Amino acid sequence: MDLKSNEPFWLLKNGLISSYPSLKSDEECDVLIIGGGITGSLIAHQMIKDGYQTILIDKREICNGSTSATTSMLQYEIDTPLYKLIELIGEKGAVESYKACSKSIDDLEKITKEIKARSGFKRKQSLYFASKKKDAVWLEKEYEARKKAGFNVTWLGIEDVEERFGFQNTYGGILSKQGASIDAFKFAHELLRFNVNKGLKVFDKTEMKSVKYLRDHNLALTKDNFSIKAKRIIYCVGYESSSMIKEHFVNVKSTFAIVSEVDTDKFKNIEQTLVWNTDKPYIYMRSTDDERLLIGGGDEDFSDPEKRDLLLTKKEKDIRRHLKRIKPDYHFYTDFAWAGTFGETKDGLPYIGTHDNFKNSYFVLGFGGNGITFSVTGMEMVSAFMRNETHQLSEYFKFGR
Ligand SMILES: Cc1cc2nc3c(=O)[nH]c(=O)nc-3n(C[C@H](O)[C@H](O)[C@H](O)COP(=O)(O)OP(=O)(O)OC[C@H]3O[C@@H](n4cnc5c(N)ncnc54)[C@H](O)[C@@H]3O)c2cc1C
Repeated sequence: MDLKSNEPFWLLKNGLISSYPSLKSDEECDVLIIGGGITGSLIAHQMIKDGYQTILIDKREICNGSTSATTSMLQYEIDTPLYKLIELIGEKGAVESYKACSKSIDDLEKITKEIKARSGFKRKQSLYFASKKKDAVWLEKEYEARKKAGFNVTWLGIEDVEERFGFQNTYGGILSKQGASIDAFKFAHELLRFNVNKGLKVFDKTEMKSVKYLRDHNLALTKDNFSIKAKRIIYCVGYESSSMIKEHFVNVKSTFAIVSEVDTDKFKNIEQTLVWNTDKPYIYMRSTDDERLLIGGGDEDFSDPEKRDLLLTKKEKDIRRHLKRIKPDYHFYTDFAWAGTFGETKDGLPYIGTHDNFKNSYFVLGFGGNGITFSVTGMEMVSAFMRNETHQLSEYFKFGR
């Protein structure tokens, strides 16, 4: 599966931060992590902290999957509104899922400090605005549900949105205190470098071809026929998990993003804010630490890379048109446009836990607009699983739910 088109901004901005050797001998470890994107890097950080001998492999260069294409908005807000999630899975699970994403933002900040990261973690508020009059009705209901659950939210009327953000043609929205943004590509590289110094072994261009699931360990075989004996395997393989697991659990889609030229003064009023709207598919935007505006959206229900990349020019225009509608006076000069693979689950929640067909193994698959915050929650969940403990979210994030 080709997970992105050729020009993701983060890949160009950061270049090849670190390259690792491919595996050239047989190895043995406590934990084998398959996948070196943001998820695998976070899980590796946890496993090293917990004292396990850990190996991480990736079939590509490190972070060359979805992690290079992401917009890296860190939100407590899940793609499924809280009031809807309550209807779907009950109040306890829904509120706990939202709270877990909120905690993930705090946890991520702590990790960036712990490893002295320079990947631009920045706390931001978040504006979720109604783009149609009829959407304002359910968005107000959503505001009430979030307030009841204890989140720090304010309802902004049409004039408030215009006054604070200069946005026209909105129908009000929810302003949340909790949120942040980061450069996930650079951060994942920083995490790996930090943990390699603590004993983590990383091999890129090393593809897991097959695994023998034995009684108390697994034997993973790579494409070059080297083996890794591991007590546990943690699959952090992102959207490519859809080809490993027989049942249908995720709708794999295409999504698009554009980033502006550096613009030091024109978009000041959303520098401290993540913005998204109620359109289906929704449009989302943030600024970057080098003062660009990054906008994503335009999702399509297919993942065929050729078809996806042919749409890039049209999608760039569509996304700019959406921006023009709320900010008619602003001219967006596109510097880079790219496409990536994205996944949607039936409830907006991730899949984190065991799967009957993969013994001694766990999956950490953070899908949707909260892929990154879910992966952070995956750290404490996997840490608990490794101690043979359950986690209060296992029930809501498990396969077959
Ligand atoms: C345009 C776009 C915007 C997004 N915006 C946001 C956002 O604002 N906020 C947010 O939280 N999320 C966002 N997401 C989602 C987020 O980017 C993903 O959830 C996240 O990057 C997934 O990281 P990952 O490490 O799980 O997957 P990946 O980065 O895809 O990493 C998986 C790795 O597994 C490796 N792999 C797969 N199979 C094998 C194998 N057999 N052997 C060895 N290695 C293997 C792959 O090579 C790959 O590098 C966005 C995604 C896109 C595309």
